[in-house]
Amino acid sequence: MDGGIGVRLVNYTRKPLETVTWAALISYWDGWETEAFDRITRKDVELHLPRVLGYGHESILEHAVLTFAIEGCSRVCTHQLVRHRLASYTQQSQRYITLNPSDVEETFVIPESVKEKPELYEKWKRLMKSAIELYEETYRAGVHQEDARFILPQAVRTKIVVTMNLRELKHFLGLRACERAQWEIRKVAWKMLEEIAKNEELRPIIKWARLGPRCVQLGYCPEGELMPPGCWKRTREKWKALAGSKPEV
Ligand SMILES: Cc1cc2nc3c(=O)[nH]c(=O)nc-3n(C[C@H](O)[C@H](O)[C@H](O)COP(=O)(O)OP(=O)(O)OC[C@H]3O[C@@H](n4cnc5c(N)ncnc54)[C@H](O)[C@@H]3O)c2cc1C
Repeated sequence: MDGGIGVRLVNYTRKPLETVTWAALISYWDGWETEAFDRITRKDVELHLPRVLGYGHESILEHAVLTFAIEGCSRVCTHQLVRHRLASYTQQSQRYITLNPSDVEETFVIPESVKEKPELYEKWKRLMKSAIELYEETYRAGVHQEDARFILPQAVRTKIVVTMNLRELKHFLGLRACERAQWEIRKVAWKMLEEIAKNEELRPIIKWARLGPRCVQLGYCPEGELMPPGCWKRTREKWKALAGSKPEV
Protein backbone atom coordinates (compact mmCIF):
# COMPACT_ATOMS: atom_id res chain seq x y z
CA MET A 1 0.00 0.00 0.00
CA ASP A 2 1.37 3.36 -1.07
CA GLY A 3 -0.03 6.23 1.01
CA GLY A 4 -2.80 3.78 1.91
CA ILE A 5 -3.68 3.25 -1.78
CA GLY A 6 -3.52 -0.28 -3.15
CA VAL A 7 -4.17 -1.58 -6.66
CA ARG A 8 -4.25 -5.26 -7.59
CA LEU A 9 -4.96 -7.02 -10.85
CA VAL A 10 -7.24 -9.77 -9.56
CA ASN A 11 -8.45 -11.42 -12.75
CA TYR A 12 -8.39 -11.26 -16.55
CA THR A 13 -9.59 -13.09 -19.66
CA ARG A 14 -8.06 -16.55 -19.88
CA LYS A 15 -5.23 -16.64 -22.47
CA PRO A 16 -5.71 -12.88 -23.07
CA LEU A 17 -3.21 -12.27 -25.86
CA GLU A 18 -4.08 -15.55 -27.61
CA THR A 19 -7.75 -14.51 -27.54
CA VAL A 20 -7.00 -11.13 -29.08
CA THR A 21 -4.69 -12.65 -31.72
CA TRP A 22 -7.18 -15.38 -32.63
CA ALA A 23 -9.91 -12.75 -33.03
CA ALA A 24 -7.60 -10.67 -35.25
CA LEU A 25 -6.83 -13.64 -37.49
CA ILE A 26 -10.47 -14.06 -38.55
CA SER A 27 -9.96 -10.95 -40.70
CA TYR A 28 -6.83 -12.15 -42.47
CA TRP A 29 -6.68 -15.93 -42.44
CA ASP A 30 -8.81 -17.96 -44.84
CA GLY A 31 -8.25 -21.13 -42.82
CA TRP A 32 -9.58 -19.55 -39.61
CA GLU A 33 -11.76 -21.86 -37.54
CA THR A 34 -13.12 -21.93 -34.02
CA GLU A 35 -10.74 -24.73 -33.01
CA ALA A 36 -7.74 -22.68 -34.09
CA PHE A 37 -8.02 -20.97 -30.71
CA ASP A 38 -6.68 -24.09 -28.99
CA ARG A 39 -3.70 -24.25 -31.33
CA ILE A 40 -2.54 -20.64 -31.02
CA THR A 41 0.90 -20.52 -29.48
CA ARG A 42 2.90 -17.71 -27.92
CA LYS A 43 4.97 -17.70 -31.13
CA ASP A 44 1.82 -16.99 -33.18
CA VAL A 45 0.95 -14.18 -30.81
CA GLU A 46 4.42 -12.66 -31.19
CA LEU A 47 4.24 -13.02 -34.97
CA HIS A 48 0.80 -11.47 -35.55
CA LEU A 49 -0.26 -9.26 -32.67
CA PRO A 50 2.41 -6.51 -32.81
CA ARG A 51 1.89 -6.24 -36.58
CA VAL A 52 -1.91 -5.99 -36.43
CA LEU A 53 -1.76 -3.45 -33.60
CA GLY A 54 0.84 -1.57 -35.62
CA TYR A 55 -1.79 -1.16 -38.35
CA GLY A 56 -3.95 0.57 -35.73
CA HIS A 57 -6.56 -2.22 -35.66
CA GLU A 58 -7.38 -1.75 -31.99
CA SER A 59 -10.91 -3.10 -31.79
CA ILE A 60 -9.42 -6.58 -31.26
CA LEU A 61 -8.20 -5.37 -27.85
CA GLU A 62 -11.82 -5.35 -26.71
CA HIS A 63 -11.81 -9.15 -26.54
CA ALA A 64 -9.69 -9.21 -23.36
CA VAL A 65 -10.85 -7.68 -20.09
CA LEU A 66 -8.95 -7.03 -16.88
CA THR A 67 -10.39 -6.67 -13.38
CA PHE A 68 -8.62 -4.52 -10.78
CA ALA A 69 -9.32 -4.02 -7.08
CA ILE A 70 -8.51 -0.49 -5.94
CA GLU A 71 -8.62 0.38 -2.26
CA GLY A 72 -7.75 3.25 0.02
CA CYS A 73 -8.10 5.98 -2.61
CA SER A 74 -10.45 8.92 -2.06
CA ARG A 75 -13.86 9.53 -3.54
CA VAL A 76 -12.21 12.45 -5.39
CA CYS A 77 -10.23 9.80 -7.23
CA THR A 78 -13.05 7.35 -7.91
CA HIS A 79 -15.26 10.17 -9.18
CA GLN A 80 -12.66 10.76 -11.89
CA LEU A 81 -12.29 7.04 -12.56
CA VAL A 82 -16.00 6.42 -13.12
CA ARG A 83 -16.13 9.18 -15.74
CA HIS A 84 -14.61 6.52 -18.01
CA ARG A 85 -17.81 5.06 -19.36
CA LEU A 86 -16.67 1.96 -21.21
CA ALA A 87 -15.91 0.04 -18.04
CA SER A 88 -17.77 -1.76 -15.24
CA TYR A 89 -17.61 -0.66 -11.61
CA THR A 90 -18.71 -1.89 -8.20
CA GLN A 91 -17.94 0.42 -5.28
CA GLN A 92 -18.13 0.13 -1.52
CA SER A 93 -21.43 1.49 -0.28
CA GLN A 94 -21.35 4.31 2.29
CA ARG A 95 -24.52 2.91 3.80
CA TYR A 96 -22.66 0.15 5.63
CA ILE A 97 -19.33 1.61 6.77
CA THR A 98 -17.73 2.22 10.16
CA LEU A 99 -15.33 5.15 10.55
CA ASN A 100 -12.50 5.56 13.02
CA PRO A 101 -12.31 9.08 14.57
CA SER A 102 -9.07 8.21 16.40
CA ASP A 103 -7.23 7.73 13.09
CA VAL A 104 -8.19 10.42 10.60
CA GLU A 105 -5.67 9.20 8.00
CA GLU A 106 -7.16 5.74 8.03
CA THR A 107 -10.47 7.28 6.98
CA PHE A 108 -9.37 10.13 4.68
CA VAL A 109 -6.70 10.82 2.06
CA ILE A 110 -4.78 13.99 2.92
CA PRO A 111 -2.62 15.34 0.07
CA GLU A 112 1.14 15.78 0.64
CA SER A 113 0.80 19.44 -0.39
CA VAL A 114 -1.33 19.96 2.72
CA LYS A 115 0.92 17.87 4.97
CA GLU A 116 3.85 20.11 4.00
CA LYS A 117 2.08 22.99 5.81
CA PRO A 118 1.91 21.87 9.45
CA GLU A 119 -0.65 24.45 10.67
CA LEU A 120 -2.97 23.74 7.78
CA TYR A 121 -2.50 20.01 8.21
CA GLU A 122 -3.60 20.24 11.86
CA LYS A 123 -6.72 22.21 10.83
CA TRP A 124 -7.57 19.60 8.21
CA LYS A 125 -7.23 16.77 10.72
CA ARG A 126 -9.44 18.61 13.24
CA LEU A 127 -12.12 19.22 10.64
CA MET A 128 -12.01 15.61 9.46
CA LYS A 129 -12.20 14.28 13.02
CA SER A 130 -15.25 16.53 13.61
CA ALA A 131 -16.84 15.23 10.40
CA ILE A 132 -16.50 11.63 11.62
CA GLU A 133 -17.84 12.55 15.07
CA LEU A 134 -20.82 14.37 13.60
CA TYR A 135 -21.42 11.46 11.22
CA GLU A 136 -21.54 9.10 14.21
CA GLU A 137 -23.67 11.48 16.30
CA THR A 138 -26.13 11.73 13.38
CA TYR A 139 -26.21 7.97 13.02
CA ARG A 140 -26.68 7.44 16.77
CA ALA A 141 -29.57 9.96 16.71
CA GLY A 142 -31.39 7.51 14.46
CA VAL A 143 -30.61 9.03 11.06
CA HIS A 144 -29.80 6.33 8.50
CA GLN A 145 -26.18 6.10 7.27
CA GLU A 146 -27.36 6.95 3.75
CA ASP A 147 -28.17 10.45 5.08
CA ALA A 148 -25.42 10.69 7.72
CA ARG A 149 -22.79 10.27 4.96
CA PHE A 150 -23.66 13.69 3.48
CA ILE A 151 -21.38 15.22 6.15
CA LEU A 152 -18.27 13.34 4.93
CA PRO A 153 -15.66 15.19 2.82
CA GLN A 154 -14.84 13.73 -0.60
CA ALA A 155 -11.40 12.88 0.80
CA VAL A 156 -13.01 9.80 2.41
CA ARG A 157 -11.26 6.58 1.45
CA THR A 158 -13.15 4.02 -0.60
CA LYS A 159 -12.80 0.69 -2.39
CA ILE A 160 -13.79 -0.03 -5.97
CA VAL A 161 -13.61 -2.93 -8.41
CA VAL A 162 -13.13 -1.97 -12.05
CA THR A 163 -13.25 -4.14 -15.15
CA MET A 164 -11.98 -2.66 -18.41
CA ASN A 165 -11.19 -4.14 -21.76
CA LEU A 166 -7.68 -3.51 -23.06
CA ARG A 167 -8.82 -0.88 -25.54
CA GLU A 168 -10.56 1.23 -22.90
CA LEU A 169 -7.64 0.65 -20.55
CA LYS A 170 -5.35 2.13 -23.20
CA HIS A 171 -7.63 5.15 -23.51
CA PHE A 172 -7.81 5.52 -19.71
CA LEU A 173 -4.02 5.29 -19.29
CA GLY A 174 -3.50 7.74 -22.15
CA LEU A 175 -5.34 10.40 -20.18
CA ARG A 176 -4.66 9.41 -16.58
CA ALA A 177 -1.04 8.23 -16.59
CA CYS A 178 -0.19 11.66 -18.02
CA GLU A 179 1.30 14.36 -15.78
CA ARG A 180 -1.69 16.57 -16.67
CA ALA A 181 -3.90 14.19 -14.68
CA GLN A 182 -4.50 14.84 -10.97
CA TRP A 183 -1.91 13.07 -8.77
CA GLU A 184 -4.16 10.47 -7.13
CA ILE A 185 -5.83 9.12 -10.28
CA ARG A 186 -2.40 9.25 -11.93
CA LYS A 187 -0.98 7.15 -9.10
CA VAL A 188 -3.79 4.61 -9.59
CA ALA A 189 -3.20 4.57 -13.37
CA TRP A 190 0.52 3.83 -12.98
CA LYS A 191 -0.19 1.16 -10.39
CA MET A 192 -2.54 -0.53 -12.86
CA LEU A 193 0.21 -0.42 -15.45
CA GLU A 194 2.70 -1.84 -12.92
CA GLU A 195 0.32 -4.70 -12.18
CA ILE A 196 0.24 -5.56 -15.90
CA ALA A 197 4.03 -5.29 -16.12
CA LYS A 198 4.42 -7.77 -13.23
CA ASN A 199 2.34 -10.32 -15.11
CA GLU A 200 4.41 -12.38 -17.57
CA GLU A 201 1.39 -13.32 -19.67
CA LEU A 202 0.22 -9.73 -20.13
CA ARG A 203 3.48 -7.77 -20.01
CA PRO A 204 4.22 -7.73 -23.80
CA ILE A 205 0.96 -5.92 -24.53
CA ILE A 206 2.34 -2.81 -22.81
CA LYS A 207 4.85 -2.42 -25.61
CA TRP A 208 2.76 -3.77 -28.50
CA ALA A 209 -0.33 -1.69 -27.74
CA ARG A 210 1.66 1.17 -26.19
CA LEU A 211 -0.32 1.05 -22.99
CA GLY A 212 0.71 4.26 -21.28
CA PRO A 213 0.31 8.04 -21.30
CA ARG A 214 -0.59 9.74 -24.59
CA CYS A 215 2.97 10.95 -25.24
CA VAL A 216 4.01 7.28 -25.38
CA GLN A 217 1.03 6.30 -27.50
CA LEU A 218 1.31 9.15 -29.99
CA GLY A 219 5.00 10.02 -29.99
CA TYR A 220 4.15 13.64 -29.20
CA CYS A 221 2.26 15.47 -26.47
CA PRO A 222 -1.04 17.02 -27.63
CA GLU A 223 -0.96 19.31 -24.60
CA GLY A 224 2.74 20.17 -24.89
CA GLU A 225 2.35 23.89 -24.21
CA LEU A 226 0.54 23.17 -20.92
CA MET A 227 3.04 20.67 -19.58
CA PRO A 228 5.67 21.20 -16.87
CA PRO A 229 9.33 21.29 -17.99
CA GLY A 230 10.98 17.89 -18.35
CA CYS A 231 7.66 16.04 -18.37
CA TRP A 232 8.18 14.46 -21.81
CA LYS A 233 11.54 12.93 -20.89
CA ARG A 234 10.52 11.99 -17.34
CA THR A 235 7.32 10.25 -18.42
CA ARG A 236 8.87 8.32 -21.26
CA GLU A 237 11.79 7.17 -19.10
CA LYS A 238 9.35 5.95 -16.45
CA TRP A 239 7.36 4.06 -19.07
CA LYS A 240 10.49 2.59 -20.62
CA ALA A 241 11.66 1.26 -17.26
CA LEU A 242 8.29 -0.38 -16.76
CA ALA A 243 7.76 -1.75 -20.28
CA GLY A 244 11.38 -2.81 -20.61
CA SER A 245 11.71 -1.04 -23.95
CA LYS A 246 11.73 2.29 -25.74
CA PRO A 247 8.48 3.62 -27.22
CA GLU A 248 9.08 3.02 -30.93
CA VAL A 249 7.64 6.34 -32.02
C1 LIG B 1 -6.54 16.26 -17.16
C2 LIG B 1 -8.04 16.09 -17.16
C3 LIG B 1 -8.84 17.10 -16.71
C4 LIG B 1 -10.24 16.95 -16.70
N1 LIG B 1 -11.03 17.98 -16.27
C5 LIG B 1 -12.37 17.85 -16.29
C6 LIG B 1 -13.23 18.91 -15.89
O1 LIG B 1 -12.77 19.98 -15.49
N2 LIG B 1 -14.57 18.72 -15.92
C7 LIG B 1 -15.13 17.54 -16.38
O2 LIG B 1 -16.35 17.42 -16.41
N3 LIG B 1 -14.34 16.52 -16.76
C8 LIG B 1 -12.99 16.64 -16.74
N4 LIG B 1 -12.21 15.59 -17.14
C9 LIG B 1 -12.86 14.32 -17.53
C10 LIG B 1 -12.99 14.19 -19.05
O3 LIG B 1 -13.73 15.25 -19.58
C11 LIG B 1 -13.65 12.86 -19.42
O4 LIG B 1 -14.97 12.82 -18.91
C12 LIG B 1 -12.94 11.66 -18.87
O5 LIG B 1 -11.55 11.78 -19.03
C13 LIG B 1 -13.46 10.38 -19.58
O6 LIG B 1 -12.85 10.30 -20.85
P1 LIG B 1 -13.61 10.08 -22.24
O7 LIG B 1 -14.91 10.79 -22.24
O8 LIG B 1 -12.64 10.36 -23.34
O9 LIG B 1 -13.75 8.58 -22.33
P2 LIG B 1 -14.49 7.29 -21.83
O10 LIG B 1 -15.75 7.55 -21.12
O11 LIG B 1 -13.42 6.49 -21.17
O12 LIG B 1 -14.86 6.66 -23.24
C14 LIG B 1 -13.85 6.25 -24.17
C15 LIG B 1 -14.14 6.78 -25.54
O13 LIG B 1 -15.37 6.22 -26.01
C16 LIG B 1 -16.06 7.16 -26.79
N5 LIG B 1 -17.35 7.48 -26.14
C17 LIG B 1 -17.73 7.12 -24.87
N6 LIG B 1 -18.98 7.54 -24.63
C18 LIG B 1 -19.38 8.19 -25.75
C19 LIG B 1 -20.58 8.87 -26.12
N7 LIG B 1 -21.62 9.00 -25.30
N8 LIG B 1 -20.65 9.41 -27.34
C20 LIG B 1 -19.63 9.32 -28.21
N9 LIG B 1 -18.46 8.70 -27.94
C21 LIG B 1 -18.35 8.15 -26.71
C22 LIG B 1 -15.17 8.40 -26.90
O14 LIG B 1 -14.36 8.28 -28.04
C23 LIG B 1 -14.32 8.29 -25.65
O15 LIG B 1 -13.09 9.00 -25.75
C24 LIG B 1 -10.83 15.72 -17.14
C25 LIG B 1 -9.99 14.68 -17.59
C26 LIG B 1 -8.61 14.84 -17.60
C27 LIG B 1 -7.75 13.71 -18.09
